[in-house]
Amino acid sequence: MGRFDGRVAVITGAARGIGFGTAKRFAEEGASVAVIDLDEAAAVEAAGRLPLADGAKAVGIGCDVSDAASVDAAIARTVAELGGIHVLVNNAGITRDNLLFKMSEDDWDLVMNVHLKGAFLMTKAAQKHFVEQKYGKILNLSSVSALGNRGQANYSAAKMGVQGFTRTLGIELGPFGINANAIAPGFIATEMTDATAARLKMDVEEFRKLNAEANPVKRVGFPEDIAAAAAFLCSDEASYITGQTLYVDGGGKLG
Ligand code: NAP
Repeated sequence: MGRFDGRVAVITGAARGIGFGTAKRFAEEGASVAVIDLDEAAAVEAAGRLPLADGAKAVGIGCDVSDAASVDAAIARTVAELGGIHVLVNNAGITRDNLLFKMSEDDWDLVMNVHLKGAFLMTKAAQKHFVEQKYGKILNLSSVSALGNRGQANYSAAKMGVQGFTRTLGIELGPFGINANAIAPGFIATEMTDATAARLKMDVEEFRKLNAEANPVKRVGFPEDIAAAAAFLCSDEASYITGQTLYVDGGGKLG
């Protein structure tokens, strides 16, 4: 018996990285999964690689989470093809790093639109179903950068915004059987952190090694580390936890 038997999970930005790791873990625990990503071909390909339980289904859907029409269509397709929606993971994300004085208005808007507006639009579309059925789990991806990070004024503001959004969802939706929590990952080895290495003109392995050495548990994180925490927070075992942000960072923010 899996913790997500008979459940349908929608995960954004799930064609790769943390999103795909989470989709894989939810599938292993019995969920049917809608893999949502900007690139429909990549989403379909990722959905095809999920280790589905007997009777579970997966679908890959192209969707820009910052576009309301695209979001509404993706949720409608999920419900039509997978038979409902029980779990939403707002994971899609981008970075457009620069020091404040060099940061363009476009890079500010883009980051706000994907992380904050994206989470807002997806949650608004999903909550209609959650409220009706008096059941739902929402998980938002924040970051240790919410606490401030050089070169990430846009991203850190968005990720702290995600924490405030999560607390408010906890308050508003709790009476309807809906839990909303956030995970704030530290350094996770994905294409996002590989791109940061490239921007800093560093070798990917060297960049990971430096980050591992600076961390109390002496390693970097992997998508599986976030997926394990996500599976717990989106399960019924966590039904008395809401509005919280769990830092999954190897103790990195303690330093
Ligand atoms: P990633 O490997 O770059 O994956 C992000 C995915 O989101 C990509 O597949 C991307 O699609 C998709 N995406 C981007 N914009 C989108 C949009 N508008 N609509 C739909 N999908 C979109 O990133 P990751 O490292 O797995 O990060 C996942 C989440 O964790 C993000 O919210 C990130 O901010 C957060 N996080 C990551 C770390 C870390 O160290 N990796 C740390 C803290 C927090 P395309 O490839 O087509 O652009």
